[in-house]
Amino acid sequence: MNDRFVYVDFGAVRIQHYLTRTPSLRGHRTASDALARATARSTIARVVGDLAEVNEEAGEADGVISLRFPHPTDRAPAKQVHEVQDLVLRHLRSALPGAEFHSVWGTGDSYLFVYAHRLQPRIRRGEVRHDLPPTAEFPLAAPCRMCHVDPAAGVERFPDGPLAVCPDCSQRNVGRGESAADDLTPEGRLRTALGVGAAPKTFTELAALGSAASGRNQLATVAVDGNAFGVFFAALAEGSGQDPELTSLKSSVSAALARATRTALEEAALELAPTQEHERLCVVPHVVGGDDVLVSLPADQAWHFTLTFLQRFGVRVRSATEPVLARLTQVHGTAPEPPTASAGVVFAHASHPLHLSVESAAQRLREAKQAFGGRQSSVQWLDVTADGPDAPPHAPLPLSLLREGDRSTATARALSRLAELPASHRARLAEGLREGGPMIAAMVADRVGHLPTVRPFLPSLDPPDRPPSSGVELGAALGLARWWPCG
Ligand SMILES: [Zn+2]
Repeated sequence: MNDRFVYVDFGAVRIQHYLTRTPSLRGHRTASDALARATARSTIARVVGDLAEVNEEAGEADGVISLRFPHPTDRAPAKQVHEVQDLVLRHLRSALPGAEFHSVWGTGDSYLFVYAHRLQPRIRRGEVRHDLPPTAEFPLAAPCRMCHVDPAAGVERFPDGPLAVCPDCSQRNVGRGESAADDLTPEGRLRTALGVGAAPKTFTELAALGSAASGRNQLATVAVDGNAFGVFFAALAEGSGQDPELTSLKSSVSAALARATRTALEEAALELAPTQEHERLCVVPHVVGGDDVLVSLPADQAWHFTLTFLQRFGVRVRSATEPVLARLTQVHGTAPEPPTASAGVVFAHASHPLHLSVESAAQRLREAKQAFGGRQSSVQWLDVTADGPDAPPHAPLPLSLLREGDRSTATARALSRLAELPASHRARLAEGLREGGPMIAAMVADRVGHLPTVRPFLPSLDPPDRPPSSGVELGAALGLARWWPCG
């Protein structure tokens, strides 16, 4: 007997790299909007017409398209797959001239099963149809003066004068650089949900939404990605083959997880002081995928945002997956842990190229995930302005050390007290630590009466050389304190 459905998925490859390849916020925003619009379900339904339908079994995510059609009874499906791919890839190419896409397909009775057993293995093995930007017509074409990636195809006017640019940068130049307040773009959705005005047009203006004490010229780039979603979906696909109750639960869980990401983003953005003070968005979302988020915001808002997002996301994911995990335990005697998310945070001057911050944030995210084997929510960070782009990494921290439900932990409160010390005192502590280690830093702190504030970050003396009571070494704590919210 035939499988019931043919599933055809499309995805943008290295999308963060693509979105951030031009220097201006305007260019990123136009491309990010174009991606969200081009992959919106309503748009794709028009593009494929009667050949396929939008696959409602998959959760909604920008940059990802999932389609399906009934398996033909009288022929192999490959020809129809190819027709669907031709239509969709042509549409995507015209909307995003410089992006890379791939498409993969498989047949089966449910998307979850097909995704775990057909599509994912094929993507891993590279058995996908690639669609790359056209190469230069002749090899000596000058490179685009905007992105330096693709060859230039024509000269256009930019605010600073005419430039030879590639078709992708040309498309980005046409955009208004201001995200429309509609529900098709990540920024538009967030604005509508929060009922606030648009985010600033440039990175300089975005950094200026920070507090006066922040200097108003530093930005944070936050990259978030889910932990252990693969394990969860594999267990669900496995279990639902034999259990009708799991089969009925699984159709709702993808949608609930995609909603968890958006809701956590909305809540974390709404809670920020500048959002409320200026009644405008102070977080620019570049990518909001399934469990994958990339944003820019003023540096002094980054920790509040990141911890709130991770905590709210965790709560929603736990409640969305709880019935599935309970049923798996009931049927199989065992179930995986609920998935979580981790974050990489990079602080840099507003003029620092976004693609460098994005690459660094992705690296910090990998460090955070690796440190805990993806088994719990965690964070890692780098301050490019203070420590340089190649500073040795600190030990990543588990979210549970910094946030407990909606409340700060003792460690987070100790960091707030450290953040309240004058910056000049913190600089002297850092100098003492560099030159003589924790004991010299302790003497410096004692001399100015700050020892109680610093003690949670010093190695314990009795018994000797135990880790600090806060779980954070002084060097890392001083780094965190630069952008840590005061109490
Ligand atoms: Zn270009």
